[in-house]
Amino acid sequence: MEETTIKGQVICASSNKYTVDFENQTLVIDARGKIKYKSGSVLTGDYVEVENGAITKIYPRTSRFIRPNVANIDTLLITISDPPKPDYMVVDKLLLSANYSNVECALVINKCDLSEETANYCKKNYNFLPIFIVSAKTGEGIENLKKFLSQKTVAFAGQSAVGKTSLLNAIFSTDYKTGEISEKSERGKHTTTGSRIIKLNGYKLFDTPGFSEIAVDISPEDAVMNYPPFDKKLSKCRYPDCTHISEPDCTIKSMVESGDLSRDRYERYLTIYEEIKKDYSNRYANKKY
Ligand code: GDP
Ligand code: ZN
Repeated sequence: MEETTIKGQVICASSNKYTVDFENQTLVIDARGKIKYKSGSVLTGDYVEVENGAITKIYPRTSRFIRPNVANIDTLLITISDPPKPDYMVVDKLLLSANYSNVECALVINKCDLSEETANYCKKNYNFLPIFIVSAKTGEGIENLKKFLSQKTVAFAGQSAVGKTSLLNAIFSTDYKTGEISEKSERGKHTTTGSRIIKLNGYKLFDTPGFSEIAVDISPEDAVMNYPPFDKKLSKCRYPDCTHISEPDCTIKSMVESGDLSRDRYERYLTIYEEIKKDYSNRYANKKY
């Protein structure tokens, strides 16, 4: 082969090989011996340079998720429906993690043919996010969502049975069996490094286990700085390190009082903050030096 340098995207990183996608071809690179990077340092989603069959450069990442361990998600589609009853703690934890990881989010409310209640709740409490009210069953709202997704590498997240697979089929004109792409079945197939990107009719999608059991692995300080949309208002509190719990002159608390910020989301913030604080101190207490 001629000596050439080409830029592509890693669509599957496993412990012994990398699958790199270029516009017109896909290369499988054996990681043993040929790679200049340690195992685990090249992630699914990374844009890389390949020279003579080896990865020689990783381009700077626009975003990096720790769990699942993937790079360059453009938009996380947090999906809910009713049924199953929406778990807004999961939604808020996903939002926090994504914000911390520099990933944009949109809220997809599926099964709008069944109820309006979830959509109304979200319009009120998540008005800082793009919201798509859709039905994979009737096709309502799907064209609009497709426009939003074009040119992006996206990932679906959310509880099982909200309709992620059905939405995929509706958006990408695929024919996945319900449950085929879901976390449950994929986890069995790929054990530890189970993330890959699938290219479907001009769209790119992370097929990634682990986006429903979200563990927010960040410090309490980072939680305060990254809970949207509180992060945008933070600088207006009296204390720059305000946690919005009991400090005086707190913008967040007064906005909750005046109805400008959602009280439900504030209360979930308090719960999540306490959880993170507890996890964090347990982690340090258990650390052996
Ligand atoms: P996943 O686990 O998130 O991938 O969810 P699935 O795509 O497997 O869907 C779970 C169930 O919800 C299936 O029985 C689907 O037929 C049903 N479902 C999915 N989307 C819709 C929708 O828009 N409306 C209705 N009524 N049912 C849907
Ligand atoms: Zn505050």
